[in-house]
Amino acid sequence: MSDQTISLQQLGDETAKQFQLRYGRAPRWIAAAPGRVNIIGEHTDYNDGFVFPMAIERYTVIAADRPAGASQQITWHCARTNQSASFPLSKPVPKGEPKHWTNYIRGVFAGFQQRGVDTGPLDALMLSTVPLGGGLSSSAALEVATATLIETVTGHKLDPVEKALLCQKAEHDYAGMPCGIMDQFISALGRKDHLLLLDCRSRKTELVPMNDPAVEVLIVNTNVKHELTGGGYAQRRKQCEEAARILGVPSLRDADAAMLENARAKMDATVFRRARHVIGEIERTPAAARAIQTGDWPTAGRLMYASHAALRDDYEVSCAELDAAVEIAQEIGDAGGVIGSRMTGGGFGGCTVSLVKTASVADISRKIGEAYRKRTGIEATLFVSRPGAGATIL
Ligand code: ADP
Ligand code: MG
Repeated sequence: MSDQTISLQQLGDETAKQFQLRYGRAPRWIAAAPGRVNIIGEHTDYNDGFVFPMAIERYTVIAADRPAGASQQITWHCARTNQSASFPLSKPVPKGEPKHWTNYIRGVFAGFQQRGVDTGPLDALMLSTVPLGGGLSSSAALEVATATLIETVTGHKLDPVEKALLCQKAEHDYAGMPCGIMDQFISALGRKDHLLLLDCRSRKTELVPMNDPAVEVLIVNTNVKHELTGGGYAQRRKQCEEAARILGVPSLRDADAAMLENARAKMDATVFRRARHVIGEIERTPAAARAIQTGDWPTAGRLMYASHAALRDDYEVSCAELDAAVEIAQEIGDAGGVIGSRMTGGGFGGCTVSLVKTASVADISRKIGEAYRKRTGIEATLFVSRPGAGATIL
């Protein structure tokens, strides 16, 4: 049910070992980058708001060396799925089949090519402890680990913000996923014992310390993913734009609760509720950052529960399973060591994130796993993390 986290160092050693087994020599370079979970700030990125992600202690690690023979391409082995692939270094690097896992990698190589940086041929092997497709951004971990590898191979180090933007573009252009900036930013800029407050308008970042060993982050994967019918995401983006237009502001970042209340009569009731979530969430996110920074756990918890309620009732992107996981956590409550809990990610399935007391974490995990199974008939996957490290060279 809950699986163990192995340290980055151990994971690096294991990757080197597997590289040795596969290619018959030790790797020359090893780079790593983490997955992430968003603590608060949901559906705020495309409204110029704040997000507050944390790097998790789950990483994608890549080991590499020059090919032994005359190969002029990039050869890549994924030890997790036992798949191998290679692609030529033509300019630009060609796209792979749609949805193929090498597209994330190819896009990053292409981004460096555009900056005049050529890696030359490589043999690589990767290992990852980030769940694939589980909403914890294995895609950004893969992109940022690849970019970090290329930096060390070529000696061409990018500014971390530029590196994150290069990786975002790889995901847009090569993987066909029009994602925001959060995942690549936290994977590239994260730091151990810190969370990252990111202003999606200015791209300004602030590392916020969270170094109280008495508090940890519990991630519960509901293991459901509901198909979105009726273009739920695009529709919500439109509703946000409509609310901003009625309020006469460039985006909902520029509005506040009073402005929205004054315009209530001019707005469709659904549009009003969508805007109420976004405006509230943009306010809650820096407030939660300050609460976590100062160890004001009751405030941090209250803001997380408020975020969940707004996503459920106003933004309507939760689902029965996410609600169940949050309700169970809330019922365990303060007395049982739960500080706060909410759905995280786009919604309609995926994960919840909770702040919990370290001393109670085993107990809480067991209780949530059991109660969730009882209420939904589904087995959840749970794991605990402290704020992990951002991209590194091992
Ligand atoms: P998430 O980013 O939440 O994990 P995505 O759908 O955005 O989900 O990305 C998952 C995809 O990224 C996988 O299906 C696979 O194609 C690719 N991927 C990411 N990490 C790896 C890895 N370590 N090995 C193979 N494929 C990977
Ligand atoms: Mg992803």
